[in-house]
Parts: sequence; C-alpha cells; structure tokens
Amino acid sequence: MISGYVSNIRKGSTEDGPGRRTTVFLKGCPLDCWWCDHPAGAGPVSEIVVNPARCARCGECVTACPEGVAVAGQGHRGRPETHCTMCGACVDACPTDARQIVGATMTVAEVMAGVLAKDGLAADDGVTFSGGEPLMQPPFLTALLSGCRELGLHTAVDTCGFAPAEQLQAVAALSDLFLFDLKCLDAARHQAYTGVSNALILENLRLLGRLHARLWVRLPLVPGLNDDPAELTGLAQFVATIPGVELVQLLPYRPSGVQASRRSPEGNRLATAAPPAPPTLEAAAGRFRAAGVTATVLGAELGVGEVGAHGL
Ligand code: SF4
Ligand code: SF4
Repeated sequence: MISGYVSNIRKGSTEDGPGRRTTVFLKGCPLDCWWCDHPAGAGPVSEIVVNPARCARCGECVTACPEGVAVAGQGHRGRPETHCTMCGACVDACPTDARQIVGATMTVAEVMAGVLAKDGLAADDGVTFSGGEPLMQPPFLTALLSGCRELGLHTAVDTCGFAPAEQLQAVAALSDLFLFDLKCLDAARHQAYTGVSNALILENLRLLGRLHARLWVRLPLVPGLNDDPAELTGLAQFVATIPGVELVQLLPYRPSGVQASRRSPEGNRLATAAPPAPPTLEAAAGRFRAAGVTATVLGAELGVGEVGAHGL
C-alpha cells in the first residue's frame, strides 16, 4: 500500500485554486527559501519541532523519551534520519506545549478519507496538493491524484517546479490545474534566496506550458529578490511567452511566517523586512497586465493574514 509523509490537510481554503479547496500539504521541499513560512514542512520525514519561546528547559521531554533521543529545547527529525520513533511521549509530557510533531505517515486511503471527511466536497470544490513540494513524493502524489480522479474531484498541484521533467510529465496527465511558484529570473539571486538554481524551474515551466492547458503562476513578491522594475518586467515578458498560463497571482511577502519559524531551528531570515505596500503590489501586477497576462494580487482578495498561511 502506497504511503507518504503529510504535514496537514486543510479544509475550505480559497487561496489554493478555484472554488473552495481541501489542501493536502505533503512534507519535504528541495528549496530553502529565505521567506519560507513553514520551515518545519521542508524536511522529508516527520519531525519534532520546539517553540523556544515556550520551552521552559524543564527536561520532562528527556525523562519521557524511551529512546533516549529527546533534547530539552531542541527539535529533530524522525526515522530514518534519527532514532526517534515519533511515539509522542515527549510531546505529551511537555507542560508548556512547546513540543509538536509535524508530519505523519499516511496511506492513500487515509488521505482520501481526510479529504472527504466532515462536510465532504461540493461539486465545484476541489483538492490541491501542496507542500513543501508535492513532487518530492512522486508515487504517493500520482496515487492520490488517481484517487481523486476516480471520484471525479477537481485537482490542482502546487509546485515549485524543481523536479525531474519525467515526474512533472506523469503528474501533468493526472492534474486538472497547476499552481506554479515562480520566484525570479536572476540566476544568482535565485540561488542565493532559495538555495537552488532556477534553470530547471524555468525549463519545467516551459515544458508545462507545452503539456498542460491550465497553469496559474504564483509569484511571491519578496523585498530584494524580485521587486525591482527590471526583474518584474523580465518575469512578465517571460510568463507571456508560456502558453497555458491563465493567471498570475502575486503573493505579497509578509512576515507572517515568523511565528512558525520560531518553532524551527533555522528561524526566519526575512523577519525584519517590510511587506510590499498595496501600490507596489498593484504596480507589479500592472507590469504583467502590460505584457498581456491576467494578474491579481492574492492578498487583496483574501485579506491580511491569510496569504501563505500553511497549517501545521
Ligand atoms: S517522539 Fe518518542 S522517541 Fe521521539 S523524541 Fe519524543 S519521546 Fe523520544
Ligand atoms: S518538556 Fe517541553 S518545556 Fe520542558 S524542556 Fe522539553 S520541550 Fe521544553
């Protein structure tokens, strides 16, 4: 039975595709973006995350751990990377709720049950597979997409595009829509801000443009990365050449990830940057419209605080 690592299943999202979505967050991401609002989702396996602001260094977690691997005030990953079995004893013993398990192994059937749980899905609702990066778990993702297709559910895959082309092709045949997260064209800046080259990402977007009729490009507008006129104009002109792009959604960077990042060892390296002001966002959207691309500001539709709010 195929299984994979899942961070969360969130019901009723209006930011992850058309209509009301159930969003399945698969664990693991090959990028290391400075503005990541969910760093605990980046690891490929389940992990223990500790909020240092809450930790009292009492050592109850250490006493409770049957494997002898818990360290007061510190998180870590689970098997196979460490000897932690994710039994949860340390989380239960923590008197301040500082410790948390992020991610669980789930079968395809368990995820589908979660998707259909409670109020189920209406005919115009859908399921979005996000992350992390869902293409980090190809057999799991394709099995989930097939399961949704059997039930007649609309599907979307939210990808950073950093994946082997053959995996993208396999998923393209099963997904109704792609949400493609584009960052910037400047190769050096992309490498510095995300930890990876953008060459494969740009090539995969061109590939998807040839393969798939429905693409939404999502662009986080991040100070210092892609908010200068030359970069934005270049992005707009590039996206305009990709067939299949229905929409560009600008996602304003905001330091909403600070709280989540405090629970991770890395911290949020953009925590002090100011979010882009509404006129800046509208001007950025205008550059895409000038290139003939439909563009919206996602924050303007959703309201403050909802953008990029991954559930844990
Ligand atoms: S989850 Fe279990 S094995 Fe892992 S650190 Fe906590 S108590 Fe120890
Ligand atoms: S039990 Fe909780 S509060 Fe005490 S040291 Fe462990 S993580 Fe910190």
